[in-house]
Amino acid sequence: MHNSVKIIGAGAIGLYLAGKLAQAGIETTVYDGKRDIRERAETASGILSKSGLGRLGMDYSEALVNELDGVVMHVNGKKLRVKADTAKAVVLDRGLLAQSLMNNAVDAGANVVLGKRLGKEEITEMMHENKVVVGADGAISTVANAAGFEPINEYVLTYKAEFDGAKVNDRNSAELFFSKDFAHRFFGWTVPYSDSVLEVGLGISSSAKRTSRSAYNDFVGKELGDVLKDGRCMGEHASTIPIARRRKTVMGNVLLVGDAAGQTKSTTGGGLIFGISCANVAAAAITAHVKNGEPLGKYERAWRSRYGLDLKMHDALHSYYSNFNGSFGFFLGMAETLGLDKFLSRYGDMDSPSLMVKRFFTRAL
Ligand SMILES: Cc1cc2nc3c(=O)[nH]c(=O)nc-3n(C[C@H](O)[C@H](O)[C@H](O)COP(=O)(O)OP(=O)(O)OC[C@H]3O[C@@H](n4cnc5c(N)ncnc54)[C@H](O)[C@@H]3O)c2cc1C
Repeated sequence: MHNSVKIIGAGAIGLYLAGKLAQAGIETTVYDGKRDIRERAETASGILSKSGLGRLGMDYSEALVNELDGVVMHVNGKKLRVKADTAKAVVLDRGLLAQSLMNNAVDAGANVVLGKRLGKEEITEMMHENKVVVGADGAISTVANAAGFEPINEYVLTYKAEFDGAKVNDRNSAELFFSKDFAHRFFGWTVPYSDSVLEVGLGISSSAKRTSRSAYNDFVGKELGDVLKDGRCMGEHASTIPIARRRKTVMGNVLLVGDAAGQTKSTTGGGLIFGISCANVAAAAITAHVKNGEPLGKYERAWRSRYGLDLKMHDALHSYYSNFNGSFGFFLGMAETLGLDKFLSRYGDMDSPSLMVKRFFTRAL
């Protein structure tokens, strides 16, 4: 039986988990290479569904930047506009979110050690101590590598930037751009922060034979010339998102959670809602292990049984849009004709596609 917990990675998921464990009275230390918790926060976006946040009961008010009630999807010159009556998603400042999660963890009694990047050897040593070791160290996980977990087989390589003075068409709508020419197996996006500040980004599958930056330049040149004509770029950032899950997430006293486990939506790359949901499951399993000696393997079974179906539905949708990009324009036309845009604006819940399908059938029957 192990008596305390070491978490590698003070990203959103590691910090959230640390807070939960400390609240349960478990001695918890989190390590991160960053010297400032907000460092590199802008490499990722912060769009979260209100329904997902509601299910988690998270207070996000301190980090709120904007609210979204619509999305416009562009495929081969066709557009599908979905506009809801109320805001369905929020845009959060990732630096402020990290700060607030760190404050919660520290207030609950967790020890957060910044400026300490752990190498494979140090992690291997930790694994031999009488502790639970958690890899919350993101997409390219050193913990997973040190413990010998099988690798993740698909990633999205991203490139994003923020522009001040951009032409924002609708400050409450995000726009998604699908194209085989510049967004292999993923998409480009714009997300408004205000009437004049716009985030622009693009992802491509790691199987594409090009860099995310060159694909991003093609995307911006082809689709956003007019929008960014008077915009001033405030910063550019490259990053990586896993879009496949690890086959195993527990081995001995080592657990993986969040991006390190591949707990993201393969459709959009969103990982916060599922990662935090899985961190809740991890917290319960680790607490039961430390206090009552229950097996850590319960975590693996529990998160897969609760969230596995929803994540698989995202895989199916991702496979649909990446393989049928050419005919997706036709799909958008059909969707509009069938009123799918109205259905999505009312019932769409991308963090729980199984719930959305249930609502669809309940209404249809
Ligand atoms: C461009 C982009 C856009 C995104 N947009 C969204 C979105 O809109 N909504 C959403 O929900 N999700 C989004 N995501 C995904 C989301 O950012 C991730 O799912 C989430 O950050 C995962 O959190 P994490 O804590 O698991 O990992 P991370 O946030 O990657 O944190 C891992 C931490 O571990 C630290 N670390 C790594 N290795 C070591 C080591 N050896 N020693 C010590 N510390 C280490 C790192 O410094 C880092 O702080 C996006 C991602 C990207 C790249």
